[in-house]
Amino acid sequence: MQALTNRKKQVDRKPMTLMEKLYLPSIFKGMAITFSHLFKKKPTINYPEQQRQFSSVFRGVQILNRDEEGRERCTACGLCAVACPAEAITMEAAERQTGEEHLYREEKYAAKYEINMLRCIFCGLCEEACPKDAVYLTQTFAPANFGRKGFIYKKDDLLIPNPVTDPEGYAKAKGTVGKEIK
Ligand code: SF4
Ligand code: SF4
Repeated sequence: MQALTNRKKQVDRKPMTLMEKLYLPSIFKGMAITFSHLFKKKPTINYPEQQRQFSSVFRGVQILNRDEEGRERCTACGLCAVACPAEAITMEAAERQTGEEHLYREEKYAAKYEINMLRCIFCGLCEEACPKDAVYLTQTFAPANFGRKGFIYKKDDLLIPNPVTDPEGYAKAKGTVGKEIK
């Protein structure tokens, strides 16, 4: 019968020799390969205790930034959502009320802000589009999760700690950002 490809191979069916029947040479050969790896540099690391140094242009999970007084920078203009090619960002705007000036920098703020990490392709266009320096891509990546809902990052997940009430947390989050944030 004519073969469709030239990839078929004739199986070698000749009887095994005594050495092959003993399997010992093959076992020792396998053990020698395993043993030789003990002295080689490990390609793996003990994540999450150890973490790899990312490239300075690495783009990871977003943060929503605050100003130096701890107020949210985002004004819910929607430009990041419009710029997003994956349609991963959704938000709902609300008006700042009297007495909330210490919470929100602008007269309008994002009452709801979500990023779907299953859609996000970490292109960074949201960061580029933002006129308020409110959204940044950090050098951390979204951790594994058991459910799809766990990948919908809400505003509380994205908001950077307050630099006034939690300077340590803020500095830590800021430190994970590849570039200087304002
Ligand atoms: S990084 Fe790109 S895909 Fe992800 S939310 Fe921003 S604009 Fe959308
Ligand atoms: S993150 Fe920036 S671009 Fe997106 S809604 Fe807020 S202010 Fe506008």
